[in-house]
Amino acid sequence: LKFPSNELERTLIAVKPDGVQRRLVGQIIQRFEQRGFKLVGMFPLKASHGILSEHYGELRTKPFFQSLLTYMSSGPVVVMVWEGHNVVQASRKMVGQTNPAEAPAGTIRGDFSVHVSRNVVHASDSQEGAQKEIQLWFPAKDLLDWDCCDQIYTI
Ligand code: ADP
Ligand code: MG
Repeated sequence: LKFPSNELERTLIAVKPDGVQRRLVGQIIQRFEQRGFKLVGMFPLKASHGILSEHYGELRTKPFFQSLLTYMSSGPVVVMVWEGHNVVQASRKMVGQTNPAEAPAGTIRGDFSVHVSRNVVHASDSQEGAQKEIQLWFPAKDLLDWDCCDQIYTI
């Protein structure tokens, strides 16, 4: 039985500037690979305040909004699209709570960070949010459609 295409889910994951600077990109990719998700897009960039304001639009009125934009544009980010069954919810669990102090060991934030203002990684929080974020960061041609042998499930 081939994986039903209507179950295929995608999410946007980004290694934030502190994660890139601390050389954590490989370890973060490794966690998504070992969970069994499929990498369909990835590139590094220095994000502009424009794209970041749109990405974080819902937080516009928060007191930390300007410092969030400064943080997120302080160095390169690596944006990625990962695909697989239940990937949005699974990624949020793998990433851990927004505040790393509350994120348990074993999560990315729980293992690699201590403060909410430097929490290493972004993950979309819903399927709808993921769709918007993927559209924002990835021109469609940059997403790859490929067959993973371990995603052809049998019953
Ligand atoms: P998440 O990244 O877990 O989805 P939010 O969407 O609530 O969390 O916030 C987006 C990002 O804004 C956080 O990952 C963090 O980088 C930053 N942030 C959130 N709350 C604070 C805060 N109280 N102080 C500083 N930065 C914050
Ligand atoms: Mg969020």
